Amino acid sequence: MTDRYQTFTRTPLGQTLVKNLGLPDPTPLPRWIEGSPVIDGPVVFGAISETDAGKAIQALLRDIGASFSTATEGVASSEIRPKALVFDATGATSTAELTSLQRFFSPVIRQLAPAGRVIVIGRTPELAHSTEQQIAQRALEGFTRSLGKEVKRGATVNLVYVAPDAHEQLDSTLRFFLSPKSAYVDGQVARIGTGPLVSNDPDHPLAGKVALVTGAARGIGASIAGTLARDGAGVIGVDVPQNADALRKVMSRIGGSELLLDVTAVDAAQRIAAHAQEQYGGLDIVVHNAGITRDRRLANMRTDAWDAVLDVNLRAPERITEHLLASGAIRDGGSIIGVASIAGIAGNNGQTNYATSKAGVIGLVQAFAPKLTERNIRINAVAPGFIETEMTAKVPFTIREVGRRINSLQQGGQPIDVAETTAWFADPASAGVTGNVVRVCGQSMLGA
Ligand code: NAD
Repeated sequence: MTDRYQTFTRTPLGQTLVKNLGLPDPTPLPRWIEGSPVIDGPVVFGAISETDAGKAIQALLRDIGASFSTATEGVASSEIRPKALVFDATGATSTAELTSLQRFFSPVIRQLAPAGRVIVIGRTPELAHSTEQQIAQRALEGFTRSLGKEVKRGATVNLVYVAPDAHEQLDSTLRFFLSPKSAYVDGQVARIGTGPLVSNDPDHPLAGKVALVTGAARGIGASIAGTLARDGAGVIGVDVPQNADALRKVMSRIGGSELLLDVTAVDAAQRIAAHAQEQYGGLDIVVHNAGITRDRRLANMRTDAWDAVLDVNLRAPERITEHLLASGAIRDGGSIIGVASIAGIAGNNGQTNYATSKAGVIGLVQAFAPKLTERNIRINAVAPGFIETEMTAKVPFTIREVGRRINSLQQGGQPIDVAETTAWFADPASAGVTGNVVRVCGQSMLGA
């Protein structure tokens, strides 16, 4: 679906009106193109003190061939336009050290390039060594979320909390947040824990893996299927028989296999496990993307509309997850991804059924995450905001227009933005990333 307003703002007349009337001015967001570098401009790195996390960040910047300098070298006052500012705040052991945020960012933030990246690295507050450190680390959330609202021209600001001794797990997460893959992820807090060190080919991190994507015939699901295939996975696409033609097209394009079924069928999990076993010998990645809406205020809600939404969006992922885990169909080291929604975080008028189901998906992630660490199976949720698909095309015009604009990037996201976030979760190198709920919403005002 095209955003006609955004297209108009790129014309000379549009630019004049935007400037004179103070209208939203959504900057087109570049997306990652295969073969391009992680980041295509200079990076400025700053830190409170020398830490293991800081060393790991600098090693990664070297590894990806980024040209980077440190703020102490006077870069802040030079002519360069940084594409990313990365600040290691893990060394903040008390609130007094928070002044370093202002000292680092104030002189350089105006120089940030369009669609630039700001990444703050902190220590997971609950795992801090002292009360003072916990308070200081928690404060970073307010800083990043506010800066996200201040930066303009398509730039994003995110915070990554790292557990003690988890600095070696930073790579896949930093690659994601530095690159255009995270174009529509803004104002978010990701958490990285410890896990086994997995080194794989960053160009094909899912080589040899098998992924299941439900609702793969179109929209976000089709994009997730394509992205996981791009990253090397064999993909099984599931959708309802009514969408057989569309599913076949997607799967033949990406070299995947199709499985026509309704995820609410009583034998859905068994059929998925059998298909994965027969065609691929197992399963590593499960993406519960199939979802529906049946919007009505609760006073007018019909029982069938309530049940259908709860069944597809929540009960099916719950039942399928339980079966695939209990039967051993998901191999150790695997990754399960739920597709929630910002409606499940903030609630939404007319969506009690949908928001219940999507909050339940977050519950599913939080309930299973600690139980699966022993098998190194990770479970995370992506919570999309306004994404341009057939689902949102059905939304009435004025609500749709508001949905697009009430976020820091002043535009809707694309299916690829949800897909890239899913691929980051699916990457075996993200071994320390579990129990996360990351919104892909351009820092929407809903559910912040
Ligand atoms: P969509 O309607 O375009 O596609 C959903 C796909 O799921 C369709 O192919 C459909 O046939 C399939 N599906 C539905 N019920 C199924 C069932 N019972 N069994 C198997 N397949 C089934 O939707 P979308 O916009 O691509 O959304 C994908 C997911 O993202 C959904 O879970 C949705 O709730 C979530 N989401 C979307 C947005 C958005 O802005 N588009 C925002 C938040 C969350």
